[in-house]
Amino acid sequence: MSDQLFVKNLSNKQPTKDITSDDIKYKIPKVTSKNKKSVKVNEKVIFSENNIPIIAGPNGVENRKLIFQVAKKIKSLGLNILRGHAYKPLTFPYRSKQYSDTKNEGMNWCDEVKKYFNLTIVTEVTELKYLDRINQTADILQVGTRNMQNFELLRECANTKKPIILKRHFGSSLRDLLGAAEHVLVEGNYKLILCERGISAPHTHRTTSRFILDIQAIAALKELTKFPIISDPSHASFWSNYVPSLAYASIAVGCNGLIIETHPNPSKSAVDPLQPLNFNQLSKVINKSKKLAKFFNKKII
Ligand code: PEP
Ligand code: MN
Repeated sequence: MSDQLFVKNLSNKQPTKDITSDDIKYKIPKVTSKNKKSVKVNEKVIFSENNIPIIAGPNGVENRKLIFQVAKKIKSLGLNILRGHAYKPLTFPYRSKQYSDTKNEGMNWCDEVKKYFNLTIVTEVTELKYLDRINQTADILQVGTRNMQNFELLRECANTKKPIILKRHFGSSLRDLLGAAEHVLVEGNYKLILCERGISAPHTHRTTSRFILDIQAIAALKELTKFPIISDPSHASFWSNYVPSLAYASIAVGCNGLIIETHPNPSKSAVDPLQPLNFNQLSKVINKSKKLAKFFNKKII
């Protein structure tokens, strides 16, 4: 019987969305095992209780100039991880005339920028057929919300032995998220990082905010799992004005990392132009986050 308050002492023969003590024993034993886990990506980047790595970058690797501009900014702020998605899952099939996924070429730019600035690269794997190319360059593989339960993709990503960011689907229970995570762990890859990126719910503030950051899920996940949990206020709110407060709230609730979208000229971002912070806004968030992290005896890296 688990001592975790969140867990119900039910047999999983009863249908439930909640996590039961039987689940912990039989369905998600690895992801809920109790020893603390940190995920070491390299000497500079460790997701742990004491570090809050910030993953910053544009939505897509639109062009070489953009990715170099962003990398330079990130480096100047003392950050180490650049997100660069050369493959994008888009909600609607129509892509802007100026932009489509840069795929191989985008990965080549990521390769260049990684070596030039000595940065850690995160790239989303949208399909199995892209995994080999992404794996040559990316230091961390991201599996996005729409692929959270694409178990074959998860297994193959796990088999690369690279750290994996697994994003919670905007409609999934924590039970389903942890079930997906267990698929990574049974492959023997323990470099797992879970990400809360907002849920779909009726909105009270503005209808343009597509999702709501589930701050409470971060607290709940911290009871259930000892793997790092990061927060993505950019994709959660879809609205750059909200990103700073949600980033601070995530730090306060105990997140082990953040994803913050940034673009030198957000309104020109080819995808989701309402959500990236410009460089000035990013600098302010990082500086304030550093102070807040210090209050909690943690370090932004
Ligand atoms: C992203 O990180 O660019 C992304 C598509 O995220 P999500 O899967 O959370 O929508
Ligand atoms: Mn995105």
